[in-house]
Amino acid sequence: MKLYLATSNPGKIREFEGAGLEIEMLPSMKSLPLAPETEDTFEANAIQKALYYGAHCEGWLIAEDSGLEVDALGGAPGVHSARWAGDDMANNARLVREMAGQAVRGARYVCVIALVEGGRVLGTFRGTVEGEILEAPRGAGGFGYDPYFLYPPFGQSFAEVPKERKAGVSHRGEAIQKLIAWMRENASR
Ligand code: IMP
Repeated sequence: MKLYLATSNPGKIREFEGAGLEIEMLPSMKSLPLAPETEDTFEANAIQKALYYGAHCEGWLIAEDSGLEVDALGGAPGVHSARWAGDDMANNARLVREMAGQAVRGARYVCVIALVEGGRVLGTFRGTVEGEILEAPRGAGGFGYDPYFLYPPFGQSFAEVPKERKAGVSHRGEAIQKLIAWMRENASR
């Protein structure tokens, strides 16, 4: 059975493509208005997006919702990560501003993938990774908040590590592995 991916974020697409999943981009994605994203949890937003795009294809479809939760900011930007201040550059500038002088630097990325078939939710798969917010950017890889997200076990920001290495420990990598395990168990359907 085909597995379609519905996302227009090039950073996410790159990470899904290298993950050992046979995915196809949803062909009608570009011609459709963007899915609504009005819920206040990653799970509910992922399901909302997956059901919206799933209505435009046959077979399995995944959509994901992800973001950064910063402890000192009470979990913000959370589900608002993509458009917290506008675009990636503005978002990172706001992060630096709001974290200036903060001693508590803990944060995590969260990713929830929702898998649907037609109008039915088959499952949601959650991954998280703990890190710390840097005061200054490091690295040129990754996307979004990655230059400011230090992964302490590597001593590097996620923008400094190759994408295969990020996938081995990241929130998205963990969610994808859970999805793959589910698909293996249910492959005979
Ligand atoms: P979504 O499209 O609403 O799920 O937005 C996710 C947003 O969270 C992205 O636009 C980024 O700002 C942030 N984000 C999620 N995952 C990552 C990541 O792996 N690296 C950097 N930023 C991320």
